[in-house]
Amino acid sequence: MAVERFSIEQFRKRTAKVGWTAEYDDGAQHIFERQIYNSGNGTTTSIIVHTSIDIWSGVARDTAKDSIRVSVIHRAHGHERAFKIRERAHWVTRTAGWEERLLDLIRFYWGKVKEKGYERCECGGVAVPIPKKKSSKWYRVCLTCDEWKGWC
Ligand SMILES: [Zn+2]
Repeated sequence: MAVERFSIEQFRKRTAKVGWTAEYDDGAQHIFERQIYNSGNGTTTSIIVHTSIDIWSGVARDTAKDSIRVSVIHRAHGHERAFKIRERAHWVTRTAGWEERLLDLIRFYWGKVKEKGYERCECGGVAVPIPKKKSSKWYRVCLTCDEWKGWC
């Protein structure tokens, strides 16, 4: 199947349903972000999408290996923890129907984080859910004081 080379305007339009909360770039490609959690006192979680859209041309790269990639980032007071979820591929190939597959993957990531949940910490911060590397286990850790809160 042919790889689609969409522009940044097309990407915005075709994924508007996500309700993006930020757009920026990493010096090479455009990145879109959807905040999915806000503790109200400094801890947030966002789903990050690396679009494969080149910042110079404004168009998706022409090689098939540059897929759209999804990850999660927790942030708190200057700390951040980014991760991918191992239970499913974290990328979407840019062939026909990519918008639906991307929405589906975002929903999966969102649902997984929500299912694992958050916990208030005695320090006033929030313990966030993080998957253990090379495992399907998750744990919570406070991003403010680093206290381990156990498996979740
Ligand atoms: Zn804490």
